[in-house]
Amino acid sequence: MARSGYAALIQEGAAVQKHDLLTDFTHITPTAHIATSLHGWRAKCLQRLVRLDLPVPQTVALSAPTVRAIASGQMVDCRAILQVFGAAALVSVRPSPENPDWGGPATILNVGFNSARHRLMVHTHGQAAADMLFLRFVQSYAIHVARLDPDMFEGLDPGAEGLREALRAYQQEMDEPFPEDPAQQLADVLRSMSRAWEGTTARLLRQAKGAPAEAALGLVVQQMAQGLGQGISGSGVIQFINPVTGDRQVKGRYLGQSQGRDALTQGGAIYLTRDKRGPSLEDLAPDLFAELVRQGEVCRQRLREEMQIEFTIEDGQLAVLDAVKVQRSSRAGLKIAVALARDGIISTADAVLRVEPRALSELLHPQVDPQGPRDVFTRGIAASPGAATGRIVFSSQAAQASAARGEPCILVRRETAPEDIRGMHSASGVLTERGGMTSHAAVIGRGLGLPCIVGASDLRLDSKDRKLTARDGRVFREGDIITIDGTTGEALVGAAEMLPPAQDEAFRQLLTWADELRDIGIRANADTPADAQTARDFGAAGIGLCRTEHMFFEEDRLVVMREMIFADTPKDRAAALERLLPIQRKDFGQLFEIMHGLPVCIRLFDPPLHEFLPHTREGLRDLAEALARPLSEVTRRAEALAEFNPMLGMRGVRLGVVLPEIYDMQARAIFEATVETVRKGAPVVPEIMIPLVSARREVELVKTRIDAVAAAVRTKTGVSFDYRLGVMVETPRAALRAGEIAQHAAFLSFGTNDLTQMTYGLSRDDAGRFMNTYVQEGVFPEDPFHILDVEGVGELLLMGAERGRRTRSDLTVSICGEHGGNPESIAFCRRAGFDYVSCSPYRVPQARLAAAHLAL
Ligand code: PEP
Ligand code: MG
Repeated sequence: MARSGYAALIQEGAAVQKHDLLTDFTHITPTAHIATSLHGWRAKCLQRLVRLDLPVPQTVALSAPTVRAIASGQMVDCRAILQVFGAAALVSVRPSPENPDWGGPATILNVGFNSARHRLMVHTHGQAAADMLFLRFVQSYAIHVARLDPDMFEGLDPGAEGLREALRAYQQEMDEPFPEDPAQQLADVLRSMSRAWEGTTARLLRQAKGAPAEAALGLVVQQMAQGLGQGISGSGVIQFINPVTGDRQVKGRYLGQSQGRDALTQGGAIYLTRDKRGPSLEDLAPDLFAELVRQGEVCRQRLREEMQIEFTIEDGQLAVLDAVKVQRSSRAGLKIAVALARDGIISTADAVLRVEPRALSELLHPQVDPQGPRDVFTRGIAASPGAATGRIVFSSQAAQASAARGEPCILVRRETAPEDIRGMHSASGVLTERGGMTSHAAVIGRGLGLPCIVGASDLRLDSKDRKLTARDGRVFREGDIITIDGTTGEALVGAAEMLPPAQDEAFRQLLTWADELRDIGIRANADTPADAQTARDFGAAGIGLCRTEHMFFEEDRLVVMREMIFADTPKDRAAALERLLPIQRKDFGQLFEIMHGLPVCIRLFDPPLHEFLPHTREGLRDLAEALARPLSEVTRRAEALAEFNPMLGMRGVRLGVVLPEIYDMQARAIFEATVETVRKGAPVVPEIMIPLVSARREVELVKTRIDAVAAAVRTKTGVSFDYRLGVMVETPRAALRAGEIAQHAAFLSFGTNDLTQMTYGLSRDDAGRFMNTYVQEGVFPEDPFHILDVEGVGELLLMGAERGRRTRSDLTVSICGEHGGNPESIAFCRRAGFDYVSCSPYRVPQARLAAAHLAL
């Protein structure tokens, strides 16, 4: 390579005439106009440090439009910029995008270094220091600015010989000597950094972190404070918080005779606080250490944030070069926000806003029980905490299909790329063979609160044959169940024993503040006492949906259920139901007790009956035996119950109309449990919900019978109680006829799973097969079973709520489909004036926080 494309670039730059040079740069002073949207977060943050009177070296900010103009061939007047710093200054150039998470090109230090400067420095700092600094500048300039092959400039002898070799290599590759003119050096650095930002890889990386397509870059040019020379000289970073736990703790490193972030990357750095493990800055320079701690406190108080400070000490003089928000885990982020609010530095509303609702899910993840057995098959980097169990999938498509089937899965990839995001959204955890803490999988995993292990390099992944071989030879195939422990970095065979997640005091405090701010209720979908307890612990305001059929799937109940299904006469059916009654009564009693006066909304039996029958010949034989009937009869009856379209068949209220004894039994169990609970002194107002309604008459028929059961229980027990009857709006017709349906209903709850299925005519059990293609082709913007289709299904929600309320102004309106926990759906329901959303218990905290964000 004689001359790179870069040489042409320099010529292009040289062609710019002096009078064409841009003069748009801003010296950062307390009163200068510096805006995050224009100059980026770093420039704004440096101005704040200047305003706080911290010893920040002179700094100049270049705005995003200027940087963009530089990228497209114009140039700023670099001599004028350098004049700000005085003739002999060296400068650094750092990226300043609008959001620090969007990254940016590498910082370049010591711009302006040349032979004259080198000679001078030999006198002031000695030969070794002068050689070392010049060499490092040549290296970073060659690699990052001239974009020469890094191999030629790495691993050189750090002394004079290495310097000569680097200068020689530069000249040979570029056909010209290393540039001596500081203004030219600065122009080249600015041009190279501004163009690096526009590169495709950089663009994809930042977009994966949420940057918009048009995200722009500002740059800051700062006078170097040398960490070299006489007296105490060096550099370091300090922060005042543990980034994992959020506890207050001084952390960081200091390295004598160093610059930039050397203390973090090179050997020989010392601790900051007095430490048993070795020497510390506090020992070496107690006053400087105390001053740093004071500055940290000033930053915390005035910048209202936990900052990491980059500092340099030059002959005992402290300079603050930069301060960035401390990188933190979700747990630490929450703790920091709560502590800042408690110290009166930010408001409680600010604290609530600082925690992303989706980040809470990380804190809610179960952990692998450390006491349980652990069959580890690989170890990698613990990239995102929490544990998850699921079936292995090797592609994002398989992950999405698995999610559509409602099966948790672990996405196993060599490494992930931006096109895997949808698959990661669908997976319960991610395991990659390659990558480190900042690889795509790790960054996105943490962002999504998804347990993640990266860099499990002893695995052999064969995605073509869809198998995974562990170091000990064990082979895993797609569909095999594994557990990943993102907290320790270990992947385990099978479903490991789990511990429930820990919610600390800060977590509860933040959500209490959120509750004070939000204006929509959050309930939970809970079918069992265990679910109800979780819902309660997570602060649900009640149960919004208890799917009672789940209660019948336990072995002892299933037999009675089947007897009921096979009953020949209403009398036989009543006898079987009589046996189910006490079981149901106990279930409901437990729910009422756990929820302790909070509303409990029980949905009457919903699925088609044949779901309770065995599907194999063997199962049918067992059933025949249990029922003491001939196999042929059992088989015939089971076949007679089969339907071509069971989800559109004899289910929900249709069963309630045709076989009313089932609902009678359920209503009796609910009311008797109510009486028992009331007698124990706890208040209960049960809510009963009718599923799959499409006509007013259905509600009338069911209501008449339930009222009769309530009256009978009142008479028999002598206890008076109230109940509320409501309707699930799950068919488009129920939404359209909500006006008349509401005549008989105290509340309407939109079951958006079925409503989505029926609005689209899309099977919720089978749509996974083609959903990926549909989303890729842009037919649907998203899978409507995951993200509420506000245009179509949403219109039915609005229409149903409005028509229902026109009939009954005090009608309670809610949503209880899976969409209920999504922040986007909550926003929609809140705008539509819904009273509450109901979602799975683990999503309740996220929903409480998301609802508070919406109200702010
Ligand atoms: C619904 O259809 O949205 C609903 C909540 O009921 P299920 O998912 O039990 O059909
Ligand atoms: Mg439903």
